[in-house]
Amino acid sequence: MERRYNFNAGPSALPQDVLSHAQSELLNYQQQGMSIMEFSHRSKEYQRIHDGANELLRELLEIPDDYEVLFLQGGASLQFSMIPMNFLHQGYTGNYLLTGSWSQKALTEAQKIGETYIGGSSKEADFKRIPDLNALKFGENDAYVHLTSNNTIHGTQWKSFPQRKESTFIADMSSDILSRSLPIDQFGLIYAGAQKNLGPAGVTVVILKKDLLSEIPDNLPTMLDYRTHVNKKSLYNTPPSFAIYMLSLVLEWTKKKGGLKEIEKINAEKTKLLYTTIDGSKGFYSGTAETESRSSMNVTFTLPSKELEDLFLKEAEEEGFVGLKGHRSVGGCRASIYNAVPLDSVRALSDFMHTFHHKHNI
Ligand code: PMP
Repeated sequence: MERRYNFNAGPSALPQDVLSHAQSELLNYQQQGMSIMEFSHRSKEYQRIHDGANELLRELLEIPDDYEVLFLQGGASLQFSMIPMNFLHQGYTGNYLLTGSWSQKALTEAQKIGETYIGGSSKEADFKRIPDLNALKFGENDAYVHLTSNNTIHGTQWKSFPQRKESTFIADMSSDILSRSLPIDQFGLIYAGAQKNLGPAGVTVVILKKDLLSEIPDNLPTMLDYRTHVNKKSLYNTPPSFAIYMLSLVLEWTKKKGGLKEIEKINAEKTKLLYTTIDGSKGFYSGTAETESRSSMNVTFTLPSKELEDLFLKEAEEEGFVGLKGHRSVGGCRASIYNAVPLDSVRALSDFMHTFHHKHNI
């Protein structure tokens, strides 16, 4: 069977080499007579994978030694709650930068725990852009400043991040981690669900500056206290061992590709191709994000009418393209072009968009 052109927003495409590798040892992991899924999480075989994934993520993202790398469960959504539970204390405020639905959800959870305010927002612009860095507000009592680096639904992305010595920045990088070089040391905490650039759903990566651990109160439920997972090296309870195994394969694939520098170049080529197709269509396709804020991961666009959009999606599906429907909350179309989406798939989509345009030009 031929594989389809997968533009899903998450879970999303995985590198074919990774899937083939996992398939080749699914029944018999390294001549051990069983699947990696069947090993104890306390076995030396699993431990090697667990530690290897941690080390390779550190290497690829150039994570400094004063940061912990955790593999947790509960998705990025659980981090929306864990962050304020661990770090939003009485007398302090959580500063949330609002750039779309996911940052709104993070804020809603924090509001249940403590005081918050919005230090910057693009809501008045329907989240079509990232707020101006110079217009952001900070407060003396900020516990932290939370932002969403890439807005999966709206197709916008922070191209550079606010910098401020006095602030602890926390970023949800679920939909663009590992897609570009990152100034890790500008953040106190970074988190990401794996199911876009890192692997399958089931594991959530948290990168946490060690000096924040002393701020955590002692009354948290054990599983929701970051120190539990730091102290037990993400093995306090049974980890999602197969998801972490897949993560380790995706990281090896990323390294083989040449690491983040090379990945970033390929991503730039894919991004350029799609936005050029959109901009060159003389308004047939319209990008929904403002140009300077356009995401390199989620390309969002509309067609001249709802009927044409439906037809576009239908014909695309017939040609083997999946996942092009925009998020139900905003409509339109969206092509998610994460690391594992090959340049050839993006070329095929661009060709299809040209053909569709010429066929249905109005
Ligand atoms: N943040 C962002 C930016 C996302 O794209 C998503 C999922 N699409 C989430 C958070 C929620 O992640 P999860 O489903 O892992 O809880």
